[in-house]
Amino acid sequence: MDGHTLAGEPVTEETLLAGGYRKYHGEAIDVYYNKEICIHSGNCVRGNSAVFEVGRRPWIMPDNGEAPQVAQVIHTCPSGALKFITKEQS
Ligand code: SF4
Repeated sequence: MDGHTLAGEPVTEETLLAGGYRKYHGEAIDVYYNKEICIHSGNCVRGNSAVFEVGRRPWIMPDNGEAPQVAQVIHTCPSGALKFITKEQS
């Protein structure tokens, strides 16, 4: 599922937070997660267990991976429970 659109529209922080997603801050990429949508497929953990680790608090640590790879893993989330917004590079 596309990790940076929601209902066909590019995601914004406002729409994600309004939609029940929680933000996990990173330097180069912010990750958003909605536990009501997650179907526990485990794709995220298998994709990068340093970034996504069930049982850890916070369970998502975006800075433990490279932003493009984190985005790639998020695209493999089958439910749409994970979304991301990348930061402008300056
Ligand atoms: S890949 Fe998506 S649906 Fe699967 S466990 Fe991770 S967040 Fe949940």
